[in-house]
Amino acid sequence: MGDEQGNLENTSNQRESWKEEELLRDSRILENTRSFIVEYNLKTKQCYVDPAQRRHVYGNWSKRLKTSADFHRVVLKEDIPLLKSFFDFSNLKAGDSRRVDARFYVKAHTYEWFRVSLVCYGDAKGHKERVLITFTNAEKELETIRKMKFLLAKDPLTHMPNLDSFIQMTEELIQSHPGMRFAVIRMDINKFRIINEIYGTKEGDNILRYIGVKIQEWAGPAQGESTYCRVSSDMFCVCIEYNKEDIQELVSFMQASLKGYPIRFEMVMSFGIYVTDEEDQEGRTPVITLMDRAVTAQQTVKNSYLSNVAYYDEKIQKKEAAEKEILSEMKHALGTEQFKVYLQPKCEMDTGKIIGAEALVRWIHPQKGVISPGDFVPVFEKNGFISELDAFILEATCKTLRRWLDEKKPVYPISVNVSRADLYNPNLLDQIQSCVAKYDIPHDLISFELTESAFISDNMQLCNLASLLQKNHFRVLMDDFGSGYSSLNTLREIPVDVLKIDLKFLPPSSDDLRGNTILRCVVDMARQLGLEVIVEGVETKDQVDFLLSIGCRFAQGFYFYRPMPISDYEQALAKG
Ligand code: C2E
Ligand code: MG
Ligand code: MG
Repeated sequence: MGDEQGNLENTSNQRESWKEEELLRDSRILENTRSFIVEYNLKTKQCYVDPAQRRHVYGNWSKRLKTSADFHRVVLKEDIPLLKSFFDFSNLKAGDSRRVDARFYVKAHTYEWFRVSLVCYGDAKGHKERVLITFTNAEKELETIRKMKFLLAKDPLTHMPNLDSFIQMTEELIQSHPGMRFAVIRMDINKFRIINEIYGTKEGDNILRYIGVKIQEWAGPAQGESTYCRVSSDMFCVCIEYNKEDIQELVSFMQASLKGYPIRFEMVMSFGIYVTDEEDQEGRTPVITLMDRAVTAQQTVKNSYLSNVAYYDEKIQKKEAAEKEILSEMKHALGTEQFKVYLQPKCEMDTGKIIGAEALVRWIHPQKGVISPGDFVPVFEKNGFISELDAFILEATCKTLRRWLDEKKPVYPISVNVSRADLYNPNLLDQIQSCVAKYDIPHDLISFELTESAFISDNMQLCNLASLLQKNHFRVLMDDFGSGYSSLNTLREIPVDVLKIDLKFLPPSSDDLRGNTILRCVVDMARQLGLEVIVEGVETKDQVDFLLSIGCRFAQGFYFYRPMPISDYEQALAKG
């Protein structure tokens, strides 16, 4: 401490007369608060310590503090450097003030937080003369903040820890047990949305609380060797030391608990488990990544009737690694034209004549060969790159159409696919229009294949997009009609020109009379609604005959042509 540092050993009996009245008033005020003051005269080096100090510092500092060198005896070690600079008065000027928070000794082995503030007063000439230092015990405020933090760390519905505190606690758990293998278990109820819809959210909440209680009952307090939380909605997460039997026990316990819940709905939970490896145990993998891996495992059994528990295994790891590779290569692949447009002809069934084509992307990888869209489109839909890819396919298609028009070749319409992930792109229509305008393509030569979604809000977007495209004189096809997502209602709501029925979803067969009747009725209904029908996935002569017998005229399928490079399509057209 500087040489102008006060010597706190002088106490109230050395009070100076010049400020007696003022100090008396100060101390009365301060005695009624959790504060006390110390006044130090920089010139005389005399010090006044408020008697209220004893009330707030049970250990009475003056006993521990014989000289300023004893300072360390009343301050927590870590805070000494901070206070040394605070009490260095060498650069202090009249009118200056400072504030610091530090932990001071209050009683045996106990330190509490004090807020220390200081004001420097000057003499008549304005030279610094004395400092008034206020010590305010801030322990209660900090305790309140600690309590608030604790409350904020809880999920208000189940009173379990929330995601943030789970992450923090799990991080600490793993780091404090190096070498120990942990299992991160993600679980939720299959079709919980339906429970909410049928029984109401109040009952849904009761079930979530019940699950919370059961998890806590099984795992014990969320400290020590296990952590748990409600992630959000019906998703819960538990982290325990890895032991296959314990996990099996948790699964059985949760299933039995759900069976015991008084509701006429068979509730089934699915579980995804990730077991940490050496790298994770060294704390190098963020907890959120461990949770993501558990989710990836869980997704493989979600809503499955065969199994409800899945471990993150080598197969999943390989798939994730492949996805990562796809993501790391996609931009370069687009820049180096590895993505190519393949065309699959659409035919008139009774003549076999080509009436148009669908543009289907292929990734021609320099090492891996031809990669099908099924392997990368879902990955690109997740990260948004599909928009760039679809724009590229549209442009390549327009370029080709332009070339054919310029070369005066026969030109038939081409349809391009619009990803569900593109529905929320507000610039989509502008982008389509400017691309089509750039190559000056008549609008009846380009059409768009849209697919329904499982989400109602997506279908509203779909509806908007479809009517905007129609207003701009583009034809709209409803792709994959008959797949799980589509409903008859969509036909009423979404304006489309062509219904594209996929035989994958509505397969006709000689011994499936009901299936055939459905297909026949769908075709009939489309006709009555004034919609054109095209059937895709047509593979056999029998299918062609049946489709013709129920009034379908157009098809796309391997029976006629497989998707092919543009040059092959040109040859197919030339052959007639
Ligand atoms: P989709 O739009 O329904 O395309 C039809 C798919 O059915 C194509 O698969 C086609 O090769 C396949 N197919 C056609 N005829 C038959 C048949 O007779 N039997 C069988 N088993 N399959 C047949 P592909 O090319 O693998 O594309 C799969 C899906 O990937 C497409 O389904 C589409 O949803 C998506 N996709 C393809 N290209 C693009 C694209 O450029 N952009 C977007 N967003 N999605 C695309
Ligand atoms: Mg399609
Ligand atoms: Mg389709």
